[in-house]
Amino acid sequence: MQTTVRPAEVMVRGEGSYLWGESGRRYLDFVQGWAVNVLGHCPPEVVSAVERQARALISASPAYYNAPSLELARRITALTGQDQAYFGSTGADANEGAIKLARKWGRERKGGAFEILTTHGGFHGRTLATMAATGKPGFDQLFPPVMPGFRKVVFGDVDAMERAIGAETVAILVEPVQGEAGIVVPPQGYLAGLRELADRENLLLIADEIQTGIHRTGPLLACDAEGVRPDMVTLGKALGGGVPISALLTSARAGAFSPGEQGGTFHNHPLGAAAALAVLDAIEAPDFRAAIANQSNRLRAVLTRIASRYSASVRGRGHLWALELPSRSARDVADACFARGLLVNAAQPTVLRIMPSLRSTDAEIDEMAELLDATLSEWSRKNGLGG
Ligand SMILES: *Cc1c(COP(=O)(O)O)cnc(C)c1O
Repeated sequence: MQTTVRPAEVMVRGEGSYLWGESGRRYLDFVQGWAVNVLGHCPPEVVSAVERQARALISASPAYYNAPSLELARRITALTGQDQAYFGSTGADANEGAIKLARKWGRERKGGAFEILTTHGGFHGRTLATMAATGKPGFDQLFPPVMPGFRKVVFGDVDAMERAIGAETVAILVEPVQGEAGIVVPPQGYLAGLRELADRENLLLIADEIQTGIHRTGPLLACDAEGVRPDMVTLGKALGGGVPISALLTSARAGAFSPGEQGGTFHNHPLGAAAALAVLDAIEAPDFRAAIANQSNRLRAVLTRIASRYSASVRGRGHLWALELPSRSARDVADACFARGLLVNAAQPTVLRIMPSLRSTDAEIDEMAELLDATLSEWSRKNGLGG
């Protein structure tokens, strides 16, 4: 089905920062499956972990324990300071779990409160409940009726969040940095302010770190930047290094599901867990943090230089960057980049999103900058982008 407009190229192979098409063309990939391939395409340690696990056990159903899922639960809860983990296959199902668990908490601990405060521009997935939680303009018109129980608040404003709290409110669900909205970074102190508000008002704070987690914005979780520990955290995208797996991580305060309350045929899947363990090994390597900090500085520097030439602006953190263009040309510019062999994403009509592998090299970042600069230069000559 044509659920998205795709170029005619058929992708056949990936390695590190590069993707090859059936045509034989090579593409420098600074989208990486939408912030999924955190170690690049087909990282050797993920490939061998999946291969090893596939030989041992592909699936035994969530009705039984499996070794990689147990080990992943132990390690990811320890790393994030959470108490329990539930593994699904997509970000949306991790958020579904968080929504269900918040409603359970409200029923048992807060007199039946059920309403979850989310944010305008926030993105939480494409199931009916996560679409209702999403604040993307137009989403509520697509498949009515919209599931009730969500209220949207302006992003980045703790006072507005406080004013929206009602008798039925049970939780706040936010992205620490809004990804799909075009890399919207909230004011410093926003997350800490929400934490304090949730404590004062007896609400659960749920951080959707599906895009920001696994060092995408620098620290392991974007919430770590403000020393904030949410009551629930959802992870997806990067967690399996390209293999489908998501996680709902919960604190003792938020509680857990009881038998019969949550499930899914492919949940708790050993292949995804084996891949995620390989990702954790890679990101816990001693020089990893220093390397990503260097690359992040280089990304910021080259993008800032480009922005100044085309009346654009740059925002972002870590390996998640947006170039805000002076006109609604992001889609056309992304297409022109594709034609030159560079993959970047048009997150919004004016926003180019850049989210490379955390292993991208100096040379690859410089190559991206050259291709992007050449594309923007040609585009602005033809269409007057400014600059
Ligand atoms: C991508 C994304 C989701 C949805 O994840 P899927 O795996 O596509 O279901 C949810 N929240 C955020 C912040 C995302 O970026």
